[in-house]
Amino acid sequence: MNTNINLSILNSKINLLNLSPKKMQLFLTSMGAKNFTSEQIMKWIYNYHCYDFNKMLNISKIIRQKLNQNSYINISNFSEEKISSDGTIKWITSLKNQKVETVYIPEEKRSTLCISSQIGCSLKCDFCATGKQGFNRNLTVSEIVSQILQAKKKLKNKKITNIVFMGMGEPLLNLNNVVTVLEIILNKNGFGLSKRRITLSTAGIIPAIDKLSQKIDVNLAVSLHASNNSIRDLIMPINKKYNIESLLNSVSRYLKNSSANHNGVTIEYVMLKNINDSIENAYELADILKKIPSKINLIPWNSFKNSNFISSTTNRINTFANILRNKGFNTTIRKNRGKDINAACGQLTGNVINYSKNNL
Ligand code: SAH
Repeated sequence: MNTNINLSILNSKINLLNLSPKKMQLFLTSMGAKNFTSEQIMKWIYNYHCYDFNKMLNISKIIRQKLNQNSYINISNFSEEKISSDGTIKWITSLKNQKVETVYIPEEKRSTLCISSQIGCSLKCDFCATGKQGFNRNLTVSEIVSQILQAKKKLKNKKITNIVFMGMGEPLLNLNNVVTVLEIILNKNGFGLSKRRITLSTAGIIPAIDKLSQKIDVNLAVSLHASNNSIRDLIMPINKKYNIESLLNSVSRYLKNSSANHNGVTIEYVMLKNINDSIENAYELADILKKIPSKINLIPWNSFKNSNFISSTTNRINTFANILRNKGFNTTIRKNRGKDINAACGQLTGNVINYSKNNL
């Protein structure tokens, strides 16, 4: 038994929503509970939305008393809801003057929840509204998990079939908390989703991609957005630290250890007129990806206030896609969902008080 964990968490009351399934078990057995009690508590929280220990009647009275003395369950509530004409829903969580956003995207065959991992983002990608807001802090496990719990509750019987880390923030710069959330999503007493239904999107934090690969297996999506380093340097400052070649090498390493990515990595490519959308760029992209099992998702750029970019035309996006398809790549064009409520990719601005300069 890990006594360090026990001592540190028993010193002050802890929020059970911050615990991984393993830590939950250690916490409970340290109070003298049976091994299966943590599974029961997880079911109460993640499946029955019960946050009051006194109502968990299959848990012994003495353990319920100890839980009340040493812990609590504190969920961060949604404060606002906006529903798009296409059925997309955006929820806002207000956290001490800051706001983060969660988006639900229902489709015919699946329903995806897009969650945020940070308040703001430090990466400053030029074409992204979240990046322009600056960075405040990482979200806690509890704040991330609350987004899923709240959405599940709001949606009543409508199922969330997929979860994507594509909301505000760079999930791999909040690696430990994000891994704990993934453990809860994958756990059968947690949200019980299969690893193939979870996608983590990253702008390419190479050491964290390697660490992630040691810790957990989920679908990886990479925001590449350029076919060469000079374009990527221009629109994504992170490229100066981790360039395309080293990023694609780390993706290959990740794929070697992963069974979730059976169709390869998802390459995200935002279509910016006259920046990265030429015919040459399409051929160049096919060339740099030829050794990486991948599917390519072209994203029409969504505009936001004070930005100078222009989205590529539909014609150009189709031409670009066809070149990639002819080269053998499974290529899709992302549908613009929730644009009327600013819930589309890169439009999530929340409300961020920018404290830290840059944590790159
Ligand atoms: N930081 C992570 C997670 C964000 S996911 C990442 O970079 O992957 C959001 C996706 O939408 C990313 O691919 C991002 O580059 C893209 N995006 C950002 N701004 C956009 C915009 N205005 N229009 C379309 N896509 C955008």
